[in-house]
Amino acid sequence: MKRIVVLGGGESGAGAAILAKNQGFEVFLSDLSEIKTQYKTLLENHEIEWEEKQHTEEKILNADEIIKSPGIPDKAPLIKKLRANGTPVISEIEFAGRYTKAKMICITGSNGKTTTTMLTYHILKDAGFNVGLAGNVGNSLALQVATESFDYYVVELSSFQLDGMTDFKADIAILLNITPDHLDRYDYNFQNYVDSKFRITQNQTGADAFIYWANDPVIKAELAKRNIKSTLYPFAIERSEKTKAFIEKDELIIQTLNSLFTMPTTELALQGMHNTYNSMAAGLTASIVHVRKDIIRQSLQDFQGVEHRLEYVATVRNVRYINDSKATNVNSCWYALQSMKTPTVLILGGTDKGNDYSEIEELVKGKVKGLIFMGLDNALLHNFFDGKIEKIVDVQSMEDAVNESYKMAESGETVLLSPCCASFDLFINYEDRGKQFKNCVRNL
Ligand code: ADP
Repeated sequence: MKRIVVLGGGESGAGAAILAKNQGFEVFLSDLSEIKTQYKTLLENHEIEWEEKQHTEEKILNADEIIKSPGIPDKAPLIKKLRANGTPVISEIEFAGRYTKAKMICITGSNGKTTTTMLTYHILKDAGFNVGLAGNVGNSLALQVATESFDYYVVELSSFQLDGMTDFKADIAILLNITPDHLDRYDYNFQNYVDSKFRITQNQTGADAFIYWANDPVIKAELAKRNIKSTLYPFAIERSEKTKAFIEKDELIIQTLNSLFTMPTTELALQGMHNTYNSMAAGLTASIVHVRKDIIRQSLQDFQGVEHRLEYVATVRNVRYINDSKATNVNSCWYALQSMKTPTVLILGGTDKGNDYSEIEELVKGKVKGLIFMGLDNALLHNFFDGKIEKIVDVQSMEDAVNESYKMAESGETVLLSPCCASFDLFINYEDRGKQFKNCVRNL
């Protein structure tokens, strides 16, 4: 019997183990850290052998195939050893894709994945599709393939998941943008990261759709080099010969084979230029699968947004507070600042991933009246911004950050938490950071 070993006992690992067991394989799951109780219970219920806080090599090296959690880097010694032995190492999505005939709508990009995934799912749900939500959000694809029978899946894919995919094919692939991120996992070679993102188009034929941002310089350069067979659906703000979604006279226009969809941009639930792109990608997808126009319009209008992504929190003394805690890189902060309509107090800082702040320099100079550096070590921020912005304050807790922003911001202005950085120095994760921000604002 084929032996499958799953490395990593989180959402994707537990799901993959259950699907593998259902398919009749011999399954073993191993995690170097502690496994959450909910997943242990799931594994026990399915009589799957597992271990935590160790990797017992005798039980792993004899696998016919490895399903690796996206969190485990390729440089991990165990993975290197397995690869050297010629053992195939795949991702949970690759594995799950083998056991379903459902249509796959897959979304990747450096920023906007979750928003676009949730928005696309929202439209298809409203249209009455039998559709599942998977990938980085919600339950793993593998678990749903094991327990549900959806006709469509909307799947958010990170580059780490894409790395472990070879035979999987997206029926509709969306590539939102590519800017440097996670370079520590790609040998500090941007091209490796780009190649990983482009795996979203692998195995596609003319019968499949590839939706992408036409003005992304990295995507443009890459398309010129590659021979992509998919049917192309580029989107951009400006109309061009090839664009299938664009803005004209403040109307969002989506033009697919037999349909022309229009909607005033002011009616879009998600405001800001970056969100217009996300709405275009989701709207194009909906048009391709023939969702009725009135439903697309209604769903783009009533979408509730996703927590921690440019989320409006409250207005205190006529100052608006916005939680964009998910902005863990410079590019997403750029879009947040770009969408600010008033002078802004910006709270940023945390674990720096090798950031280049020059990307936001112009916007900071133009829109930001004061900066609050919130991190254990703010030296890199000082190096860049000192002398460029008059008011700068250092803090080491969210409470102080919100109190300082309260003092700095005047009536009619905005306080924006959009940190450009990971959160692990002062917080458990970005959700914790965003929740603390909201609590502190509500306590003002
Ligand atoms: P991801 O899942 O790719 O991290 P999210 O939807 O969670 O993306 O958004 C992450 C951050 O990026 C948020 O701060 C959000 O405001 C910003 N953002 C959302 N969509 C885009 C986009 N298309 N381009 C750039 N930034 C975006």
